[in-house]
Amino acid sequence: MSDTPRPVFPHRHLLGIEGLSALDLTALLDLADEQVEVSRQVEKKKSTLRGRTQINLFFEPSTRTQSSFEIAGKRLGADVMNMSVASSSVKKGETLVDTAATLNAMRPDLIIVRHHAAGAVHLLAQKVDCSVVNAGDGAHEHPTQALLDALTIRRNKGGIEGLTVAICGDIVHSRVARSNMLLLATLGARVRLVAPSTLLPPGIEGLGFETFTDMRRGLDGADIVMMLRLQRERMNGSFVPSTKEYFRFYGLDQEKLSWAKPDALVMHPGPMNRGVEISSEVADGAQSLIREQVEMGVAVRMAVLEALASHLPNR
Ligand code: ASP
Repeated sequence: MSDTPRPVFPHRHLLGIEGLSALDLTALLDLADEQVEVSRQVEKKKSTLRGRTQINLFFEPSTRTQSSFEIAGKRLGADVMNMSVASSSVKKGETLVDTAATLNAMRPDLIIVRHHAAGAVHLLAQKVDCSVVNAGDGAHEHPTQALLDALTIRRNKGGIEGLTVAICGDIVHSRVARSNMLLLATLGARVRLVAPSTLLPPGIEGLGFETFTDMRRGLDGADIVMMLRLQRERMNGSFVPSTKEYFRFYGLDQEKLSWAKPDALVMHPGPMNRGVEISSEVADGAQSLIREQVEMGVAVRMAVLEALASHLPNR
């Protein structure tokens, strides 16, 4: 038997939560806890990625995720380059492969990719020599969002196992929901999906997730209420009658929140549509973790970059 210690994270890329073990996830969350401390210091700079090049390749607009990855890379000492590619100028498949080959020739060490097509990040990862992180691919996965949500929950509730988490809203179009469902189930939470039937993925009941079309029943006894944005850019056709009606039945206001446990906490990945899926009162209220999620986002991304850096050559 070899004495070589198991690497903190034994994967070269982070393409999704799918396929990761509870051990992998816990290792990243533990590492992220350390990065929270680093980020709260006056001197925030580490040297883990000194001399390394990180490219943030965003084919879809992003405010918080892109800036979060940029800050995370810089705190670890990397040279970070932001490349925002307007989706209209991208012609799918071939262009993506060409882009990958061009970037690869510049010898980056890490590429962070957001793309409007599910699976595009996996394809790109096959074409480059460096580590790749999925920053959101279509309605497929957004692994660092699920990790930052888990870190926020763990720090506020002391653990994840046994908690009841209600994920509410536009589940069918949400990569955040998908990554969270996988992660929370792996770490032993009870995951409920609460949405109008038009926004629930077909056949989801068979996968072990409880589904509810009624908010009162879905929120009853929930420890965490995770709200999702209506992903209009991914809808073709009409999924909800009107935003006013949607808010009436599915928007989280103080009254609906009172149906969850008294100490329930509220989350939202952002960007929020106030008055559509959540009221301002709840978003800015005492039970909201929404700002803390943003802080945890930087810590989680630092942890992911640091974990992947241990696989980079010449170390
Ligand atoms: N920011 C998250 C995402 O990129 C959630 C959202 O856009 O609603 O998927």
